[in-house]
Amino acid sequence: MESPVNKRAEQLVRELLTLFGEDVSREGLLDTPRRYVKAMQELLNPKPFNFTTFDAEGTDEMVIVKDIPFYSMCEHHLFPFFGVGHIAYIPDKKIVGLSKLPRTLDLYASKLQNQERITMQVAERLQRELNPKGVAVTLKAKHLCMCMRGVKKEESNTTTTSLQGVFKTDASARAEFLNSIR
Ligand code: ZN
Repeated sequence: MESPVNKRAEQLVRELLTLFGEDVSREGLLDTPRRYVKAMQELLNPKPFNFTTFDAEGTDEMVIVKDIPFYSMCEHHLFPFFGVGHIAYIPDKKIVGLSKLPRTLDLYASKLQNQERITMQVAERLQRELNPKGVAVTLKAKHLCMCMRGVKKEESNTTTTSLQGVFKTDASARAEFLNSIR
């Protein structure tokens, strides 16, 4: 059984498509509102997880996970944007399982967002959970709202970076990060 919320949402999608001049009774569109509502509910549903940390046991070199694919939805146009993220930190007393870095990115990407905010939220979360010497996050993405309409720059990428701790204050730490993601 479908929930009343879903039924209402589907009805609104049907109305919206009609206002855009579509014939919602044609075969290809019959089930589209239901699929659309289901897909959006999936996409906008961040999955919280336990941020389990471990003793760093003296590890104090940069930890970096590169080329993490991510997908998000632009809050200004409701269009997808997607690309890769690079996440690095320099441990102090705590480390975290490597898989938690991509999951942190997913957590903040799975909602209506802008790229700058995801970048910042990932960096701040790591800073808060690990209290490391530094955190660096870079996202590089294509925004379909830019590629498909308006300025039509299909090849353009948007890069955003958030630096915390030594990555902000120490030029050599920053250079190590930037060189390794080049
Ligand atoms: Zn947009």
